[in-house]
Amino acid sequence: MTKTKGYDYIIVGAGIAGMSAAETIASQPGRPTILLINNEPRLPYKRTKINKNIEKGFTTNEFALKNQDWFAENNIDLLQHHSTGLNTKEKTIHAGDQSFTYHKLLLATGSRPRSIGCDAWDNMVLNVRTASQVEAILQTMQEAHHYFIIGGGAEGIETAEQLVKAGKQVTLVDRNKYLMHNFLPIDMGERVKNTLSKNGILVINPTEIKAIRGGQSLCIDLSDETITADVIISCIGHTPNIELAQNASIKTNRGIIVDQWLQTSAPDVFAAGDAAEHPEGKVTGLWHAAEYQGKIAALNMMGQSTICERRPYRFKTEIFGDFYFAGGIIESGKEIIEQTNNANIKRYIARTNNQITGIASCNETRYAQLFQQALMERWTLEELESAIKKLECE
Ligand SMILES: Cc1cc2nc3c(=O)[nH]c(=O)nc-3n(C[C@H](O)[C@H](O)[C@H](O)COP(=O)(O)OP(=O)(O)OC[C@H]3O[C@@H](n4cnc5c(N)ncnc54)[C@H](O)[C@@H]3O)c2cc1C
Repeated sequence: MTKTKGYDYIIVGAGIAGMSAAETIASQPGRPTILLINNEPRLPYKRTKINKNIEKGFTTNEFALKNQDWFAENNIDLLQHHSTGLNTKEKTIHAGDQSFTYHKLLLATGSRPRSIGCDAWDNMVLNVRTASQVEAILQTMQEAHHYFIIGGGAEGIETAEQLVKAGKQVTLVDRNKYLMHNFLPIDMGERVKNTLSKNGILVINPTEIKAIRGGQSLCIDLSDETITADVIISCIGHTPNIELAQNASIKTNRGIIVDQWLQTSAPDVFAAGDAAEHPEGKVTGLWHAAEYQGKIAALNMMGQSTICERRPYRFKTEIFGDFYFAGGIIESGKEIIEQTNNANIKRYIARTNNQITGIASCNETRYAQLFQQALMERWTLEELESAIKKLECE
């Protein structure tokens, strides 16, 4: 092992949580030393773009968040390596044959695709979590014709759309009664299914994967039928990367357990983004939530005492021209108001104690900013309606 090098701050994981933390620390006076360790073989990038650009493809650093010079200018050493042994007593961490000490450490290790049931099946499917995984899909596109997608959430649907646009036959399956069930109410989920069907995607739901068999083509046994395909892509969600923390005896559950200040159970070790599990048991899984948490963790690592609020970050996506916005929670037990203007535009608002706590909307691109603000600031319905009227008059 080479000599141990010391840093003020070490961040493991250069997704948006790690990058947001690095940027926050670097913007403070005093030029602290920062080591950012990341196991992906390219500059840190905008992960949300990779499955939305399958049709056109992309170059290695096309979605880079910062160029190479930015790291040096900000006193950040970017080390492309997988980080392993963390010792929270000695405050050391390893990457390859190198060892480092930290004053404060952030674990922003993100998440990886959830297993579809067993290693044998996982080995037969591709994923869209990393740019390298999407590049592996791009490499199949010369030969393969029929793509089978498991998972009717946004990631699977966006991937399906791209493949159809690239001239591929696509089948999409989901175990739930309606698509995008994590974000949208049932009728919007049904609308998404109709849109996919109209655009040539065979949607089968609800169904279960009973088995995946290899051979010349792949066979997927579903609840009631068997489908053959050239390529299977699994988009069934993500599992937080907790092993580094777990092996260092830091408390974990589904994610790395943090308190309101994003501090883990180990002194001077924080966690943020998709890897972190918050006091109410929530793992967030959204870009802007990870970005916010990276910033809050950095502030607390620098000695502030800033509480990480549970902000209702929104999700938005466009599916064959239909724009969907979802934020907060639309669930039974809350007062749900349906506001439908015409067949193509739909809005649901959830209220708790007269404040807006959830919005799901279809084809109201223009109001997306207002919706986000209404959720963050817990507007009343009247406040939202008056802001919409004002915008209409502009
Ligand atoms: C295809 C796709 C589309 C998405 N689209 C949207 C969207 O439209 N809107 C939205 O809000 N969210 C979207 N998301 C979710 C969003 O991208 C994530 O919530 C966000 O990227 C999480 O950021 P993070 O920094 O916590 O983790 P990550 O982005 O996962 O970054 C963690 C990094 O740490 C690295 N790492 C892990 N362990 C180690 C280790 N031991 N040593 C070194 N490096 C390590 C990982 O390889 C990774 O590069 C999408 C996700 C995917 C996969």
